[in-house]
Amino acid sequence: MIQSPFRFAVIGAGLAGLTAAAGLSARGAYVDVFEKSRGVGGRMATRRAGMSPDASLASASAPRWQCDHGAPAFAAVTASFRAEVARWEKRELAARWRPTGNARELWVGAQTMTTPARSLAASLPRAIYSSTTVDTLQREHGAWRLHSAEAGWHPERFDGVVLALPAPQASRLLSTIANGESPEQSIASYAKRAIEIADAIPMSGTWAVIARFESRVELTEDLLAFSDSPLALAVREASKPARPADEVWLLHASAAWSDAHIEAQSDGVSDTLLAEFRQVSAATASAFQVHRWRYANAKRRAIEPGAESTSRNYSYWDGEIGLGMCGDWLGIQPEAAAGGVEAAWLSGMDISRRAAEAVPI
Ligand SMILES: Cc1cc2nc3c(=O)[nH]c(=O)nc-3n(C[C@H](O)[C@H](O)[C@H](O)COP(=O)(O)OP(=O)(O)OC[C@H]3O[C@@H](n4cnc5c(N)ncnc54)[C@H](O)[C@@H]3O)c2cc1C
Repeated sequence: MIQSPFRFAVIGAGLAGLTAAAGLSARGAYVDVFEKSRGVGGRMATRRAGMSPDASLASASAPRWQCDHGAPAFAAVTASFRAEVARWEKRELAARWRPTGNARELWVGAQTMTTPARSLAASLPRAIYSSTTVDTLQREHGAWRLHSAEAGWHPERFDGVVLALPAPQASRLLSTIANGESPEQSIASYAKRAIEIADAIPMSGTWAVIARFESRVELTEDLLAFSDSPLALAVREASKPARPADEVWLLHASAAWSDAHIEAQSDGVSDTLLAEFRQVSAATASAFQVHRWRYANAKRRAIEPGAESTSRNYSYWDGEIGLGMCGDWLGIQPEAAAGGVEAAWLSGMDISRRAAEAVPI
């Protein structure tokens, strides 16, 4: 039964989900956001140590360091995202990054990569359900119910649900509807359509190594791109605006190497990536951490089945059952080479517009 105002559950508090939640809230909907991690931002992530008493890796004796170990930076290509980033810059949520060795215009979150997401989260009228991994969706009597690993069945019911997750995770969650014990059996056919779209988008992984050095690494570039190497990218974190001065480098393995070694032990991964970096820098890390991103980047854009390739929808919305999806993998702009963070934002904006148009908010 449609309630007033329309109630949405947004699953995933990355940039896409938070942008969607903010847009729907601004249009008068009641929105709850569910996020499996403790913090927000998803793949716009920053790891810190020794920075503050509540930093997860901090200890009194730990050296201070910080690293944007997911997206290292982002571009703004489309007019609408350029305008948004200009607003972020004005509000000191994002800053321009001018690494030596790079000619493109690049942006980073101010102080940390999570800053834009944290600001969006703080602007929402309702608190986010963090540390809540939604593992089952069920539709009953015209409303959605959510189950999480941590809290069981959520007490409230929703008129609409938006999955703001990487495609493979969205597909997995959708399959709980299709295969569930829902009294509305026809729901399986709606879920199947959404699953087909998510399953059509392969996502590549990325192994990341955060490496700390005792003294400055003698390279003129702050941003190095590699080819024909397990390494794809190396970034001097201190070259970003408002970062600690410590000599910390982010090393990202290539998508191909990461996918071929996605189940490898982290020790072997760090050995390989640090050795590759040593070859160009002659520098040996004094400490390092490893992180595996199983789903880092979409390999191509999602197109709704039957839609023209010129379709301007950058999200998925099924108004009949109030089921939506958004995320970078849906927001990639074919003509503008815009992807990643920009695509996530475009997709979050798109779902909030489409869902709000389709329902009596
Ligand atoms: C290694 C790496 C390098 C990158 N490089 C760049 C780059 O150079 N430029 C660029 O623009 N972009 C880059 N990106 C991509 C960019 O980070 C993403 O496109 C963007 O952040 C995606 O946002 P999103 O909101 O769509 O998804 P996400 O940020 O993935 O958000 C999804 C959220 O859902 C949560 N979640 C997952 N499952 C559940 C569940 N069952 N229940 C509740 N919550 C759940 C996750 O914890 C996460 O917070 C990179 C990403 C990585 C990982």
